[in-house]
Amino acid sequence: QSDVSVVDAPRAHRERHPHAGEVVVRVRDVRKSFGDTTVLDGVDLDVHRGEVVAVIGPSGSGKTTFIRTLNRLEVPDSGTIDVDGEQVGYRVEGGRLRPAGDRDIARQRRHIGMVFQRFNLFPHKTALQNVTLAPVYLRLADRAKAERQALDLLAKVGLEGHAHKYPHQLSGGQQQRVAIARALAMEPSVMLFDEPTSALDPELVGEVLAVMRDLAAEGMTMVVVTHEMRFAREVADWVVFMEDGKVLRQGPPEEIFAGADERRIEQFFAAVG
Ligand code: ADP
Repeated sequence: QSDVSVVDAPRAHRERHPHAGEVVVRVRDVRKSFGDTTVLDGVDLDVHRGEVVAVIGPSGSGKTTFIRTLNRLEVPDSGTIDVDGEQVGYRVEGGRLRPAGDRDIARQRRHIGMVFQRFNLFPHKTALQNVTLAPVYLRLADRAKAERQALDLLAKVGLEGHAHKYPHQLSGGQQQRVAIARALAMEPSVMLFDEPTSALDPELVGEVLAVMRDLAAEGMTMVVVTHEMRFAREVADWVVFMEDGKVLRQGPPEEIFAGADERRIEQFFAAVG
């Protein structure tokens, strides 16, 4: 059973990324309020190619809102976000920056893979159809080629033999792995994960984290909102600790986790284990 090998896969060892080099995602002074509530209060971040950034922090600190601004699922009130050198939500026309239309935003999102807390698969489509839908619709590949690629991706996430199953025939962990394969099918330059294991039964968390470790080991650029402190410590190159809509601290995991003397971080770690 390919499933089992994913669960038992040894930890993917990789060299730590130096938090340097080509910047894929550049965030500057991003602010966002809902009514009177300031949810993002001036967030800055650089994500470099091949780097895994873990975003941690207490519930309500703005992590989900932040990651959703990166692909324009939330629109910041101010500040800038560039992905692959292009400002998200804007387009250049006649040398001037103008608000992007829906088609521009759809185009920008193609390079930004997103995996949600809930798997959001199309319930009436098989695993294979879920993965091929967008590439075929967008004519990135003909159906035969898209299916070959999808089968490879499903094998990569440990779902060989499950291609023709519907979401309801799959466990939560398997569904989430289909969602990862679906995002990868667009060949994104960065993958965003918003608490991808928080809706899973505890025994299914490991298989999803294992797939994410493998992706990291292959050099995928990733931003991961997570409560999985062990994952953040072992897999992330850079850890961002948010509180009250601000980046309280950011740095390599050794530093951030060693710095648990800071009372709030300590309390947070105590609370989430
Ligand atoms: P986290 O992911 O760290 O738990 P969120 O980004 O989900 O934090 O939420 C941060 C704050 O923003 C919370 O107080 C939440 O209630 C509020 N919030 C999030 N989305 C909305 C929304 N669409 N409308 C109003 N308030 C929101």
